[in-house]
Amino acid sequence: RVWNFSAGPAAMPQAVLERAQRELLDWQGCGASVMELSHRGKLFMGLAQQAEADLRELLAIPDNYAVLFLQGGATQHFAQIPMNLAGEGESADYVVTGHWGEKAVSEARPYVTVNVAASSKDENYLRLPPRASWQLNPRAAYVHYTTNETIHGVQFHDVPEVGDVPLVADMSSDILSGPVDVSKFGLIYAGAQKNIGPSGLVVLIVRRDLLERTTRPMARIFRYADHAANDSMLNTPNTWGWYLAGLTFQWLKEQGGVAAMRERNLAKATLLYDAIDGSGGFYRCPVEHAARSRMNVPFTLHDSALDADFLKASEAAGLLALKGHKAVGGMRASIYNAVPLEAAQALVDFMGDFAKRHG
Ligand code: PLP
Repeated sequence: RVWNFSAGPAAMPQAVLERAQRELLDWQGCGASVMELSHRGKLFMGLAQQAEADLRELLAIPDNYAVLFLQGGATQHFAQIPMNLAGEGESADYVVTGHWGEKAVSEARPYVTVNVAASSKDENYLRLPPRASWQLNPRAAYVHYTTNETIHGVQFHDVPEVGDVPLVADMSSDILSGPVDVSKFGLIYAGAQKNIGPSGLVVLIVRRDLLERTTRPMARIFRYADHAANDSMLNTPNTWGWYLAGLTFQWLKEQGGVAAMRERNLAKATLLYDAIDGSGGFYRCPVEHAARSRMNVPFTLHDSALDADFLKASEAAGLLALKGHKAVGGMRASIYNAVPLEAAQALVDFMGDFAKRHG
């Protein structure tokens, strides 16, 4: 297999894929594939409970939080979060640090009055707006932010202090990449397709008292309280995604948990940023040092005329999906949990070699 630097759907741990392959036709000796089993049967219910227990252990999720395994992608929850957390006529604060924060705002607007409390758009999202500049409303229903902006490569390395207002975080592209104090959040959500499993699954961790926040009418399928009361089985869940998420959680535990992942992710990111900064200007990362993402590393070549050559040669060298997002151009190396240090080293070696040949 190649080294996969895709931003998403992203590389999965090799060991997880191999195990899923071994178990595909006959899951735990039951004679059927896990994706053929009834989600309400004892076998699948056991798997679902184990996945939740493992995630609770990995992130030390307190008991007063519900863990939901939902669908719709993170995008659907951009809309569902205000539906559930904001009452009629309430407003919510949004801190916008890149493309996904912008999307969260536009999808929320039909359901809540949005106050953009801070934004780094004027600085092309190359840094985080300093906490002191945030115009927070103490009566807001919640404060929303994106912990890691996948396209712009900016990441919060600390949880911002927002007082008593519930903090809501889109952690789609950095969940489980390191320890996080869940008790500081009202709600955490993540599309699975970076650090959890295949796309089509969303993991949502919500403080239970917030489930009763609104009485506004909505279909049950949109109401988190109904999902929580039905163990995320209000309708047929994404059983295949749930199963693979469970395998990934087990793999993470075998790796030493999220503390070990943080060290590994830091080592990969340091390797890459050092190579970029030390390239004598051949490569450049425009993001401010303190805000640089440990998951998505955007960089440019000193001459964009070399971009096509770089992509062609990297692919030939077994380094996949390095093309940057069209919104920022250049290159982007996504180095999620499943990407080993060896892959980052292979990329750094290739970059050094390419610079030598074209410098
Ligand atoms: N939020 C972030 C940070 C993302 O990176 C993405 C997708 O890449 C999304 C939200 C949207 O997720 P989905 O495509 O699952 O709706």
